[in-house]
Amino acid sequence: MCLRQNQDINKLLFVPGKDHGLFERQDVIKDEGIIFDIKRYAIHDGPGIRTTIFLKGCPLSCRWCHNPESRSSQLEKVILSNNIKEAIGRKITVSELFNTIKKDIIFYDESGGGVTFSGGEPLMQSDFLYSILKLCKEEGIHTTVDTSGYADWALIEKIVPLSDLFLYDIKLLDEKEHIKYTGVGNALIINNLLKLIDLNKKIILRMPIIPAITNTEKNLSQFKDFIKSLPVRLPVEFLNFNIFATEKYHRFHLPLTIKYTDPISDDRLNALMTEFNNI
Ligand code: SF4
Repeated sequence: MCLRQNQDINKLLFVPGKDHGLFERQDVIKDEGIIFDIKRYAIHDGPGIRTTIFLKGCPLSCRWCHNPESRSSQLEKVILSNNIKEAIGRKITVSELFNTIKKDIIFYDESGGGVTFSGGEPLMQSDFLYSILKLCKEEGIHTTVDTSGYADWALIEKIVPLSDLFLYDIKLLDEKEHIKYTGVGNALIINNLLKLIDLNKKIILRMPIIPAITNTEKNLSQFKDFIKSLPVRLPVEFLNFNIFATEKYHRFHLPLTIKYTDPISDDRLNALMTEFNNI
């Protein structure tokens, strides 16, 4: 049993069908942000060896979320069953974060890598994101933003010149199902994607493969049609379902509202990627 100390548990609970709105976020301070993890030597979050920064806060509430601790934009604490307190999230200044990112410049240079901002939804802390992206660009570090696409276009537009690559999530093409499983509609996400394409940005589409939710014949077929309808062909990646995320739900005392079953095989995942990248 673990209890959330600051009564913030509701912010992490799934509220299927609820549109959280774009502005349900605390105002951010430009020079300070809240992150919940930093992963060095990451190899799946863009090209080469990267440092991935996980920013706290997300306007979606995907039922399968692999990082449920990312969803609240607040600092949180939980008391675990062994009475040990665990902090979720920490404040960090732009310069402190930049110093951490710079430590691995040699690896970025040798591998064609860089830094990736993920979450949560990094655009929830758009001022902080802008500031750190700007420093990275000035230093010549390759930048990637991993986004749900659910943000005001003005916020995305502001970071467009500072992001070399967008990892852009497409989850469900059916609007009603998108609302049911993520809490928000997909119209804004699709409109923002079209605007990014218009600006000739480098984009990789990513879809999480969630059994019986995104991995259905209907959704994959609609995804294929969607790709064909775009004015350019974009590379596609599929992300396998992470069964180990269940451990986080137990640890943080969060309800699981989907049945976690086995992920698909690597062979099937690769076959899907080949198929969708050769449309
Ligand atoms: S968009 Fe990503 S971080 Fe946000 S709730 Fe969905 S899976 Fe979790």
